[in-house]
Amino acid sequence: MADAVAVPVVVQLQGVHKAYNVGTDIETEVLHGIDLTVHRGEFCAVVGPSGSGKSTLLNIIGLLDRPTSGTVEVSGEQTTGLGDRALTRLRGHNIGFVFQSHHLITAFTALENVMMPMLGAEGFPSAAMRTRAESLIDSVGLTTWKDRNAGRLSGGQQQRVAIARALAMGPALLLADEPTGNLDTQSADEVFALLRRFNTEHGTTVLFVTHNVAMSERCDRTIEVVDGRLTA
Ligand code: ADP
Repeated sequence: MADAVAVPVVVQLQGVHKAYNVGTDIETEVLHGIDLTVHRGEFCAVVGPSGSGKSTLLNIIGLLDRPTSGTVEVSGEQTTGLGDRALTRLRGHNIGFVFQSHHLITAFTALENVMMPMLGAEGFPSAAMRTRAESLIDSVGLTTWKDRNAGRLSGGQQQRVAIARALAMGPALLLADEPTGNLDTQSADEVFALLRRFNTEHGTTVLFVTHNVAMSERCDRTIEVVDGRLTA
């Protein structure tokens, strides 16, 4: 009988330590040797007390910050020896981010915000880019609002634009740092449902920091960070 097809590994961390203010008298290590493997299609809640290292961990997985020691592999690519440009490229093509505050360009329309990562990657606008952005805007339920400036949308709508923007490059991995933290219950549920839908329909791997126990219980897997270590 043929072997079952292995599910690809999207994130692999081995022995990751992270210290801030290295070499000064206020040097502090906040991650103490993290080993973590996340496969394609996993929908994971990242939980733990404030200050335990969740954002630091997400920043390292997202290649926004480098570990002090240890290795980080994303979509099969070992990142240790990569320079900043290569990291930026790997990040741009493989990872989407959604933060607690949406970081949209408020003077641009919803559609323009979704086109931004594609423009960044390709350098000039195209009809295909616009079509893809429109389809993403449709899929987050904002068709009617696509030409409205992002600054004039509600918090929930802005976060939905941020999700569409994060998915613009079709990333294998979506990292969301408390994406529902600023939202009312209904908007938070809608944002959660959207993330779940993209996970199910496209196999996007999702790591989702949340303090909401009910939401973490609806994820496939819980990654708990306590004092800079993962619990068993
Ligand atoms: P969490 O996301 O779980 O709240 P963080 O990863 O934000 O935790 O922070 C973990 C620890 O690292 C905290 O003690 C925080 O003060 C510290 N920290 C985070 N970012 C920095 C930084 N840029 N410089 C120094 N210390 C930091």
